[in-house]
Order: sequence, then C-alpha cells, then structure tokens
Amino acid sequence: MRVMKFGGTSVGNPQRIREVALLITDPEPKIVVLSAMTGTTNDLVRYSEYLYKKDSGNAKLFIEKLRSNYYRVVDELFTSEEYKEIGITLIDSHFDHLNDFNQDLFTQFEEKAVLAQGELISTALMYYHLKETGRECVLLPALNFMRIDKDQEPDNYYIRENINRELSLYPDCNLFITQGFICRNAYGEIDNLKRGGSDYSASIIGAAVESDEIQIWTDIDGFHNNDPRFVKHTQRIDHLSFGEAAELAYFGAKILHPTSVRPAQDKNIPVRLKNTMDPDSPGTLITDQASGSGLKAVAAKDGITSIRVQSDRMLLAFGFLRKVFEIFESHRTSIDMIATSEVSVSMTIDQTDKLQEIRSDLESYGTVEVIENQTIICVVGDMIAESRGMAVQVLEALKEIPVRMISYGSSNNNISVLISSEHKVEALNSLSDHLFRDL
Ligand code: ADP
Ligand code: ASP
Ligand code: MG
Repeated sequence: MRVMKFGGTSVGNPQRIREVALLITDPEPKIVVLSAMTGTTNDLVRYSEYLYKKDSGNAKLFIEKLRSNYYRVVDELFTSEEYKEIGITLIDSHFDHLNDFNQDLFTQFEEKAVLAQGELISTALMYYHLKETGRECVLLPALNFMRIDKDQEPDNYYIRENINRELSLYPDCNLFITQGFICRNAYGEIDNLKRGGSDYSASIIGAAVESDEIQIWTDIDGFHNNDPRFVKHTQRIDHLSFGEAAELAYFGAKILHPTSVRPAQDKNIPVRLKNTMDPDSPGTLITDQASGSGLKAVAAKDGITSIRVQSDRMLLAFGFLRKVFEIFESHRTSIDMIATSEVSVSMTIDQTDKLQEIRSDLESYGTVEVIENQTIICVVGDMIAESRGMAVQVLEALKEIPVRMISYGSSNNNISVLISSEHKVEALNSLSDHLFRDL
C-alpha cells in the first residue's frame, strides 16, 4: 500500500485535478489523501470571521461568491450533463449547509465544521471525476476513522482499527480517496489537525496501514535548503534523515506540517516529497539514514515569545528548573528553546494563550521579562560532536544580526538561534550566502 497526499495547489483547479488523476493510474494499491483546493480553507476562515463578528450580510455574500466559483469548477471538470448535475448537487449540499450556520450560535465548534467542508468538497470532486472517467475507486470518509484524543494527539489505536476495518470492506479496490486535515475529537465532534494538517493525516494514515511509502505531492520539487519564499536560489536536497526533516518541519519549513514526520518515523516508513507540476523530478527522500555531513538546510519559525526569569537567590538551587518547567506544564504550553546562566533562565514558547497565567506564576520565582515577535532560525545538518567549526560558520553568517539565544548540542542535527523577527529575511539570506554558496 502507498499513501499519496496532494496539497491545495495540486488540486487547485480542474486541470490540476485531472493531472492528479493521471498520477494515480498504476495498479499498486493506494490511499490518496487530498487537501482542500487552494485558498478554500482561507476563505472558510474568512467566512467564519464574518459569523464571529455577527456580520451575516457579508458572510452570505462571501459564501455565495465561493459557491459560484465552485459551480465554475464543476462546469470545467465534468464533461457529461449527468456528472455536471451530480457536481452541482454536491456543491449545493455543502454550501446550503455552510449557509445554515447562524451568527448567534457560532463558536469554535461550528468553525471546525465550516473548515471541514473544503476537504469534503475536493475529495468528492476527485471521486466523481474518477468515476466519470471510468475509474474504480472508493471515497473513504476520514471522519469515520481519523480521531484525536483529549490531548489533541492522534488516537493511533482507534485510527488503525477503523481505517483497516474500512479498507477490508473493499478487498478488490486498489484506489481509495480520503480527506486530509479533518478528524473527530475525543467527544466525536468535527475537528482538525491544524493548518497544513493534511501532511500529518497522510503520515498518520501511512503508519496506520503500514504503507511502503508516504508521498507528499506539492508545488515544489522537494525540500530546499532554505525557505524559497524569502531566499532566492535555494537548492533541492536529495535526502534527509527523519530527524533532520522533523527539526526543519517543526522549526518552520512550510513544506511539511510541524509534526508530520513523527508517525512515519515511528514505523520507519520512507517519506518522499514530490512535485505535482514536475512528476519526473526525483524530489526528496526522507528515511532513517543520515546521508552526507555538514550543514544542510535552514528554516525559520515566527511567532515566538521569549520569557526570561532572573533570580539571584534560587536559580541554582536544587529543583528550581523543575518548578519553572512545572509552571509551563500546568498551563499545557511547551517550551521550544532554553538557555541558562548562573542567575537566569530563558525559554521560548510559540503558544501564548496562557502567557499571562505563566507570567504571574513565574513572578514568584524572580523578575520576569517577556519579549514578543521573535523568530527561531534553525540550521540542520549532520553535525556529530567531533565536527569542527559548524557553530562558528552559523554565527559568522549572523554576525551583523543581534542574536538573543543560541541552542547547540542538544542533538546531532540542530543549531538554533533566536532573533527578532524583523531580522529574519536578512538572517536567512546571509545563512544561505555563507553556508551554501558553493553548492
Ligand atoms: P501544499 O498546499 O501542497 O501542502 P504548502 O504551501 O503547504 O503546499 O508547502 C509547499 C510550500 O512550502 C512551497 O511552495 C514553498 O514555498 C514552501 N517552503 C517553505 N520552506 C520550504 C523548504 N525548505 N523547501 C521547500 N519548500 C518550502
Ligand atoms: N486545507 C488545510 C489548510 O489549508 C490543510 C492542508 O492544506 O494541509 O490548512
Ligand atoms: Mg501544506
């Protein structure tokens, strides 16, 4: 079994949907995981914002415009009157449902149900396109098997049991289509795996069915050594280890959802990143093997807040750090980077909904300083302890930029630095110039 995930741009218009259909023709059994068509999830977020603001008038105008766009997709995608009609009925059923949401009863639960429509529509369009072109396939509803637990973690046992049961209902089928991103939570409500979560769905599904390979098809030819949105002349990387890819994804490489490597890594399933627009390009292979040495890639994660606790009395006292960490734990907030000195400890977080509570709890241990709008720059590579000069190369590249924190040595494949977000683009470019100029 192979899992193939196609992102929003890959199914972003009728022509792309047809092209994806041609990439899944071989007889090898496969589960195809689709995102919503590009822009749709953003549009549904916007629709939800109108409802939150109790602006039903604009909400309605907005959703009707989106409905007309989808009518056009249906008209271009399907060729026969029969399937055009099926397409219109499909679009109407989703948009009538969207229209039913009421501004007076709109909470985050309703919003999740609104956001789910994007993937439900794209998968149904692909399913009917395959049917119209005479292909046998089954549309597997992700809401029947994809579930997160009370801690928002995938409920792997439930997922494995249920997806395998669903698959076993169709022993002769070798092409399954399902939705990325969407799931149910521990209470059975519609939920999701956070923005960009279709990659995570593919990896979770791949692990649940023990697939031979998980392929992530997107709009670029693989993992690049820097963020192509901010740096020109980035280069594709042929091979990354799970550890390297996980660090880069977690620290901001948008090509992969932050936690999407873990399920594949747990089951040692290779992940291949491929370009839908250039299917013959080899892409990037991610496996348990490290290959090559030295610094390989850079990523940046924005929206970071740093918190420094300064205390001349207790910092080195036994148990002090444990107490500090317990405060973060009690507010279910994870720490990304940490640096300590004799009299202070600095930590970074990317989730700030409990910042006030954390701050006031920490104040009983010392003076607390909070700085927002920070960025973690993460440099990844194979840097065994003996390798010399790597940290120097990174700091040399950043010598014009004020660095607030450095983390080095916690793993063999990561150097991270914290800088103010205003310096991010300069830092990424300077790192590319210094580290990869000979490539
Ligand atoms: P999809 O909709 O297929 O999930 P995404 O937009 O989520 O696609 O991810 C692909 C995009 O990630 C690329 O178009 C690119 O701009 C961006 N990106 C950021 N960092 C990297 C990187 N290191 N390598 C490749 N792409 C990256
Ligand atoms: N459609 C969702 C999003 O835009 C999930 C995804 O594309 O991976 O975030
Ligand atoms: Mg994505």
